[in-house]
Amino acid sequence: MLVVKKFGGSSVADKERIFNVANRCIEEYKAGNDVVVVLSAMGDTTDHLIGLANTINPKAKKRELDMLLTTGEQVSVSLMAMAMQALDVPAVSLNAFQVMMHSTSRYGNARFKRVDTERIQHELDSRKIVIVTGFQGVNKYDDITTLGRGGSDTTAVALAAALHADRCEIYTDVDGVYTADPRVVKNAKKLDTITYDEMLELASLGAKVLHNRSVEMAKKYNVELVVRSSLNRSEGTVVKEASKMEKLLVTGVAADSNTARISVIGVDDKPGIAFQIFDTLAKSYINVDIILQSVGREGTKDISFTVASEDLENALQVLDANKERLTIQKVTYNEDVAKLSIVGAGMMSNPGVAARMFEALYNSRVNINMISTSEIRITVLVAKNDIEKAMNAVHDGFGMAD
Ligand code: ADP
Ligand code: ASP
Ligand code: MG
Repeated sequence: MLVVKKFGGSSVADKERIFNVANRCIEEYKAGNDVVVVLSAMGDTTDHLIGLANTINPKAKKRELDMLLTTGEQVSVSLMAMAMQALDVPAVSLNAFQVMMHSTSRYGNARFKRVDTERIQHELDSRKIVIVTGFQGVNKYDDITTLGRGGSDTTAVALAAALHADRCEIYTDVDGVYTADPRVVKNAKKLDTITYDEMLELASLGAKVLHNRSVEMAKKYNVELVVRSSLNRSEGTVVKEASKMEKLLVTGVAADSNTARISVIGVDDKPGIAFQIFDTLAKSYINVDIILQSVGREGTKDISFTVASEDLENALQVLDANKERLTIQKVTYNEDVAKLSIVGAGMMSNPGVAARMFEALYNSRVNINMISTSEIRITVLVAKNDIEKAMNAVHDGFGMAD
């Protein structure tokens, strides 16, 4: 049996944790299985490296940032191999170049295109535990890239898919996927199973327990994931296709404070304006999220939308540079906002879910700025200050409490 095991930063934060992980992997290996381990950088190494870069050059090129950030994962994998060797178990650490994890060229936000398996297979055949750097890829210029924050999960799934692994386990610092971030909502309950679609929505809407691309890829290649704790032996959560699962009305709540609202005021109320605005933003790689358009009045209308915080400055610049062509009279923005979402496959066939969410928010006097819905989710924009209160209110309002 081939098992891919991924351990996040907190699971390898110090010497003791590194040996804990080493022992868990060795246990699997000694049971006769082939073991591929994917690691993140130790503790908050990645944050520290970003801070360090900022002290040198706050406008550092993404290529150089990737060169810097990928060192974190290289530290963990080499130390892990040393730990296993100290325990008399053959192990080898490999980075994205040595495996050849081919990615697209976008620094800071690359996607995997193809993963070569020869080197890993060769090492497994000689009965070594293979330890691979998470979060990194190699682009067509032979430069190192990163997959976006939290990207090590995606490395694990990409390897599990390419190697046709029998199991893919994501070990982290909580016992599995909960109905809400257990650090924010103390009543949050652990889920035994969750569908790819629900997990994908939660991950994309701010539940950072899994990188959203990892879920997308797991669904595409039908890789069943288990999310569990590296610190205890509890069962964890299985992420898989829907099959016979009971459809919960609301499976989980997610929050994302990494967002900003932009309003373009007084644009011409004529066909093609929305297209031109969003096309202009898309061409600058700015992803737009919730969109709200006002009813036209006296030939003009207003359009509001949200973008990720890190894209705000760029979005404002792009809009300003194209002000006349886009017929914009004024642009306003607000950074003190956060998105709150509920996700559940059962929503599709149940009217009144939105009303129940709004009621819970009203009961705790949280004002709603914007609303957006899809088949299996509802997202509202609220003041950043209100987010924890709102999250708890909505979570408990749907009876998800433990
Ligand atoms: P790792 O370093 O192991 O990749 P992350 O910090 O990326 O770990 O993700 C785990 C964290 O995700 C948890 O500590 C928890 O605070 C947060 N989290 C957010 N939403 C959820 C959720 N619905 N279920 C579990 N954890 C969640
Ligand atoms: N070390 C990277 C990060 O902090 C990747 C990861 O943890 O998955 O984002
Ligand atoms: Mg993570």
